[in-house]
Amino acid sequence: MLLREVEYARPATIEEAISVLAAYEGARPLAGGQTLVNVMKARAAAPDVLVDLADLDELRTIGFSAEGMLEIGAMVTYAQLMGSSEVDVARAILAEVAATIGDVQVRNRGTVGGNVCVSDPTNHLPVLLAALDATFTIRGQRGERSVSADEFFLGVYMTAVGEGELLTKVNVPPSAGAGDGFAGLTIGVHGTYVVNAAATVFGDMARVAIGCVAASPVRATTMEERLAGGDYSDDTVRAAAEGLGASLDPPSDVHGSGEYRRHLAEVSAVRAVLQAAARRK
Ligand SMILES: Cc1cc2nc3c(=O)[nH]c(=O)nc-3n(C[C@H](O)[C@H](O)[C@H](O)COP(=O)(O)OP(=O)(O)OC[C@H]3O[C@@H](n4cnc5c(N)ncnc54)[C@H](O)[C@@H]3O)c2cc1C
Repeated sequence: MLLREVEYARPATIEEAISVLAAYEGARPLAGGQTLVNVMKARAAAPDVLVDLADLDELRTIGFSAEGMLEIGAMVTYAQLMGSSEVDVARAILAEVAATIGDVQVRNRGTVGGNVCVSDPTNHLPVLLAALDATFTIRGQRGERSVSADEFFLGVYMTAVGEGELLTKVNVPPSAGAGDGFAGLTIGVHGTYVVNAAATVFGDMARVAIGCVAASPVRATTMEERLAGGDYSDDTVRAAAEGLGASLDPPSDVHGSGEYRRHLAEVSAVRAVLQAAARRK
């Protein structure tokens, strides 16, 4: 289906992008276009102005903050994550997971910012960034603010990014000896997740997030509390996950019933934590 006519802006600076977004109520940032253009074709979204972020080089960088946080620009593609020495050193799981997203075309065009702003519960990055305790830098005309992963994802297509604002970067703590894991069940090899789970294990603390069971990633806090103490043996991790499924209220759809997703949530959480524990340094 053809797109309806829209105004197109291609700002040269972040400030310019923000002022165009603030000036037009129906304006939307355009990143890789992998989701936005498709939903526009399906008439599920009808922005009046597209603000193309393609020329904003500042959003395409990967580096470190003065405090040593890994800083990933919102326009960084999955392919960039996969080839980044900074990511490899600081948090290799990001590259590992990016390599399993979609196909080569999607990985070449799809961006970190687009992935999290879509906030699709079946996407790879929301659940992973929730487990990694990432923070999100949002800029608007009133300045810049930083939002935790727990506050960023508000629902499908709903995030803490407000009207006239732009997500500029995602900040991820360096692993500092932590181990990270990612597990789940997809439809096909690189397909959509039915359920996914991500975990990070550092010392005697674990952080576990489950995806595809609600509109936003869900932290498995009871499991995290049970794992405090640092025993990551198979039996302890399995016991810690008991009841996790029952605490969730996942949807039923053509890919799986709510009951099946509850089961998968426990299995995926166990696998993610065991993988993370095995990778600690
Ligand atoms: C065939 C196919 C397979 C896919 N498979 C997977 C998969 O397996 N796993 C997965 O996770 N994803 C998958 N995707 C989705 C893909 O990762 C998209 O790239 C991603 O969801 C959106 O990123 P984008 O850069 O294309 O964003 P766009 O489509 O350009 O934008 C998406 C939304 O985010 C907003 N936005 C973008 N950047 C910003 C910003 N900086 N600040 C504020 N708002 C912003 C836009 O306004 C829009 O509303 C797939 C997509 C396709 C087409």
